[in-house]
Amino acid sequence: MSNSAQFVIAGNWKMNGMLDESLKFIDSLTENPNPTAVEMVICPPYTLLHPLAKPLAEKGVTLGAENMHFEASGAFTGEISPLMLKDAGCHYVILGHSERRDMMHEDHALLRKKLEAAWKHGLEPIFCIGEHLEEREAGTTNDVLKDQLAVLEGTDSSLPLVIAYEPVWAIGTGKTATPEQVSETHAFVHEELARLGRKCKVLYGGSVNPGNAESLMACQGVDGALVGGASLKADSFMDIVGAAARVAT
Ligand code: PEP
Repeated sequence: MSNSAQFVIAGNWKMNGMLDESLKFIDSLTENPNPTAVEMVICPPYTLLHPLAKPLAEKGVTLGAENMHFEASGAFTGEISPLMLKDAGCHYVILGHSERRDMMHEDHALLRKKLEAAWKHGLEPIFCIGEHLEEREAGTTNDVLKDQLAVLEGTDSSLPLVIAYEPVWAIGTGKTATPEQVSETHAFVHEELARLGRKCKVLYGGSVNPGNAESLMACQGVDGALVGGASLKADSFMDIVGAAARVAT
């Protein structure tokens, strides 16, 4: 189910995007310079999933959602189910974004249920992990990531999964982790995934932009990017895709 491209460049639009401007965004997307090396993904807000599914597919872009409930249907006012995401044409769903962990208090037990529900209904989770600044400064980054990844313990390792390592202090702040920090941390995440019996892509996220994308994608163990702010404009999103295509081997 997972795409075989070397890099995944996924845009997380968060709570941004109106229909008209989003259709213009798609119109302005230029051709993926190397679709076998780079998969393009857009995760818009729920209201845009259905209307954008076809235009994105026509541009070779995979659709993802930003979150979901773990139940398939029922009395959960205001929630979106995995079946609804499938019905809208989603392949991916972002789970465990730090904004949801921090603001909506999503914990490990809830995220485990969401992961299982995504797999049950044929969605591929983009599971976000990452440390806060105090944790990096205290030298506990690897402990935090290990704890967050422990949610995968005992799950079926043949089920599709993408990890996004996003240091919380780098999200939306304009600060990026240095290439050394990125390589070191991705090496640890891959090692920990191997210990859990998994081999999967690990994206980097945190203020990725056209100016830093090439050096970040060139870091050992980086298999793509989860991009917030810079994914809202077609030209900067395409520049990041282009940077990944240049780095692809
Ligand atoms: C994100 O929200 O996942 C993200 C990485 O945001 P930004 O690129 O804006 O830092």
